[in-house]
Amino acid sequence: MEKYDVIIVGSGPAGMGAAFSLLESGKKCSILMLDKTPYSTGGMRNDCKMNFTFPIGFPLEYWEENTANHYLEKVTAFLKPTILPKSNIETYQKRAERLGCSLLEIKQTHLGTDGGLQLIKELQKKLSDAGVTLALGETVTGIDNVNKFITTDKREIGYKNILIAPGRQGFHFLQEIMKALGVNYIDNVVDVGIRVETRIEHYPIVKDYYDPKFYFPEKVRTFCTNSGNAHVVREKYTTSRGDEWFSVNGHAFKADENKNNGLVNFAILKTVRFTEPLASGQEFAEHLGLMAVLMGGGKPLMQRVGDFRMGRRSKESDFNGDLYDFKPSLVGASPSDISLAMPSKILRYIWSGMKKLDTIVPGILHPSTIMYYPEIKLYANKPQYIDNHFCVQKNVYFAGDGAGTSRGITGAWASGIRAAEGIIENLD
Ligand SMILES: Cc1cc2nc3c(=O)[nH]c(=O)nc-3n(C[C@H](O)[C@H](O)[C@H](O)COP(=O)(O)OP(=O)(O)OC[C@H]3O[C@@H](n4cnc5c(N)ncnc54)[C@H](O)[C@@H]3O)c2cc1C
Repeated sequence: MEKYDVIIVGSGPAGMGAAFSLLESGKKCSILMLDKTPYSTGGMRNDCKMNFTFPIGFPLEYWEENTANHYLEKVTAFLKPTILPKSNIETYQKRAERLGCSLLEIKQTHLGTDGGLQLIKELQKKLSDAGVTLALGETVTGIDNVNKFITTDKREIGYKNILIAPGRQGFHFLQEIMKALGVNYIDNVVDVGIRVETRIEHYPIVKDYYDPKFYFPEKVRTFCTNSGNAHVVREKYTTSRGDEWFSVNGHAFKADENKNNGLVNFAILKTVRFTEPLASGQEFAEHLGLMAVLMGGGKPLMQRVGDFRMGRRSKESDFNGDLYDFKPSLVGASPSDISLAMPSKILRYIWSGMKKLDTIVPGILHPSTIMYYPEIKLYANKPQYIDNHFCVQKNVYFAGDGAGTSRGITGAWASGIRAAEGIIENLD
């Protein structure tokens, strides 16, 4: 059986951060990086908007500000981002504060979906040139940490140390791995919300601040704003019983005057935390997702704000005729009534957030604005870590969004570095 000093599962930012740290350490070790797809499927491949300010992307249960900033410096030094300019921030901040909300000013960069792919290709080439073995298009299916090998859809491979960083899409896979290893975990938190799509003139703040981070009361926030050549997409998820459901998401290509569609999209999410009785955030989200596909005939739902305010279901004709001034960028969504599918408490707080946002940046509640549902973020696996390097069992490390150590590209990269530092100690 082939054997490596370090196996890294997942070629997203967590896996990349770890691989480059191992190389930079100068320790002589053989490294294998596996991914089930040729190019990682998370944020680097989709939109690649990177945030370089704490606490964006750093879950507070694992990161203190000093620690996060220490690692953010390393991420910045490696990625050398070109930070986007911002303007008029104080004006928006004052308006937000009047309403009991806040606008966080953060350092950001945006490569776009096309720029992200370019970055991934460059990083893969650097790794390969440095002697890292890349096995892309190979899916890991199981682990045996007693005999120190993994199984994939092609073979068995031995390891001395392993980092598993499968991202949000690998949330379910990671739970299976934790069951196999006997690692305790909880996943009691989930973000549920909608994606808003409108014309740029109805949300002009994006000309001043590419991805404005508004925080509203009751743990509601804006997330992942895209503009210019911006599109809403749907991501397919499968429950453990094999039922399919969708979460919507958004991304943008690099700004290009000839291709810009004049639209902007962003999520408004509410964090839901289960305490007593402790429930699984993933299972809760799956039930919501299944309810939405049931109502949408197998598709996510969409509704015009004008219809929502009137308590009226949106119809196909509301998206095709000239009644409103733009067509949805997501073709595969069903006109519907999202208030029938979304828990009322979540919807109430989200709508309250939207009204506040419309007061801060007037325009968002234009009748033509589209609300897509559901947008769900499954990144709340909280494994029981046994040290500060995200070790779960001797020689086994987790990192990234699927393992709850990050909520964004830079946080994932930082988690990968932190896990690699633990692995490097084992290599001594
Ligand atoms: C559509 C979309 C857009 C996003 N946009 C942004 C953004 O612009 N900015 C931002 O900061 N964050 C964004 N995010 C969040 C972002 O994905 C993460 O924060 C970041 O990519 C997490 O990094 P990661 O390394 O943990 O996981 P990922 O980047 O998701 O990488 C994990 C990799 O593991 C692989 N994998 C999973 N299971 C297996 C298996 N069993 N065997 C082998 N390989 C496996 C996957 O194929 C994947 O490539 C986005 C997420 C999505 C889904």
